[in-house]
Amino acid sequence: MLDFVQLEADLDQEERMIRDTAREFVAEHVKPDIGDHFEDGTFPTELIPKMGELGFYAPNLEGYGSPNVSETAYGLLMQELEAGDSGLRSMASVQGALVMYPIRAYGSEAQKEEWLPALGEGEAVGCFGLTEPEHGSNPSAMETHAERDGDGYVLNGSKTWITNSPIADVAVVWARDRSSEDAPVRGFLVETDRDGVSTNKITEKLSLRASITGEIGLNDVHVPEENVLPGVSGMKGPLSCLTQARYGIAWGAVGAARDCFEEARAYATEREQFGGPIGRFQLQQEKLAEMATQITLAQLLAYRLADLKERGEMRPQHVSMAKRNNVRTAREQSKVAREILGGNGITTDYSPMRHMANMETVYTYEGTHDIHTLVLGEELTGLQAFTQQ
Ligand SMILES: Cc1cc2nc3c(=O)[nH]c(=O)nc-3n(C[C@H](O)[C@H](O)[C@H](O)COP(=O)(O)OP(=O)(O)OC[C@H]3O[C@@H](n4cnc5c(N)ncnc54)[C@H](O)[C@@H]3O)c2cc1C
Repeated sequence: MLDFVQLEADLDQEERMIRDTAREFVAEHVKPDIGDHFEDGTFPTELIPKMGELGFYAPNLEGYGSPNVSETAYGLLMQELEAGDSGLRSMASVQGALVMYPIRAYGSEAQKEEWLPALGEGEAVGCFGLTEPEHGSNPSAMETHAERDGDGYVLNGSKTWITNSPIADVAVVWARDRSSEDAPVRGFLVETDRDGVSTNKITEKLSLRASITGEIGLNDVHVPEENVLPGVSGMKGPLSCLTQARYGIAWGAVGAARDCFEEARAYATEREQFGGPIGRFQLQQEKLAEMATQITLAQLLAYRLADLKERGEMRPQHVSMAKRNNVRTAREQSKVAREILGGNGITTDYSPMRHMANMETVYTYEGTHDIHTLVLGEELTGLQAFTQQ
């Protein structure tokens, strides 16, 4: 596997073990069928408990069954899962960084005990409802709202593009609490079998096909007071979760890019045209050289991000740069790998075009490439360019 500047040398035993466990899991359980899942638009749901058993959901959290592994180990895990497919990494990211993380960081003791072990083991599935049909890049304009009602709240609104909502047991729904002054955004744990909850599947996707995506409809859904996340109020709640998930994406995208590179390199040395392997042509070598260089740069950024996160010095702007750069790298390099594979490259028999299609989602979700550009622009100039009024 591509590791041109010997980053592996700095890994400790636990980090190697976690990486190897994930790599073997992907080779044995994911690679053989992922092309079919992509074609069929299905997720291998039978792997959800197995992934829990192997500790793939939020192992970087502490307590309630989570072992608190290093941020590098967590990143390597995301990298290996996404080398399998972005749908697989998305499953682990949503479950771990977008559902378990807010419960761990902002939940009550009862919420932690009820949900964290079950989610960690993959016995329960969670989803994260922030995006709405009319509010994607600007979630603070959300319309979904909660009103006080006796011993709890009544929720109304709709969320869309929600990974795993059709198979989720619980949704972390972000809604404006209209019964409090200034209607702050608050997080609600909504069991999906509550009256008034619907979770229609979105089937028309041409990207991230091996992942289940849906809506969340909330029609006069009553939730008790104890389902509100007590520890956070305002946009800090969802945004802090996104920082965790984007960290995993910055690593994961490297895995997808690396898998494309490995397929292209193998193909270039095996495929013969004009009496020898296509890898002997300088045009193909230039493509491989550039791919290896760009992927190595993305790896370095991911490793540095892990160091900053471990020390508690990682800021959302650091994550924006890494998510933006590494996903762009994977998006561009998957296309180059596809080229090297010629006609075979457009099939699901090889991974590059599947990764390339997936990257259209990864480039867009968790803050589009443009939005991360604006985050960096503001950081560098002190001038905010999100709105142009
Ligand atoms: C497969 C998939 C899974 C997803 N999973 C989840 C999930 O689990 N939970 C969840 O809550 N959401 C999820 N999302 C939603 C995702 O986060 C949003 O699609 C994303 O935030 C972009 O929002 P939007 O699609 O409404 O695009 P818009 O916000 O409408 O943006 C459209 C275009 O305008 C650009 N744009 C927007 N504002 C500006 C600006 N100020 N300046 C310059 N350009 C701008 C954008 O970059 C983009 O190119 C998922 C999306 C997909 C596709």
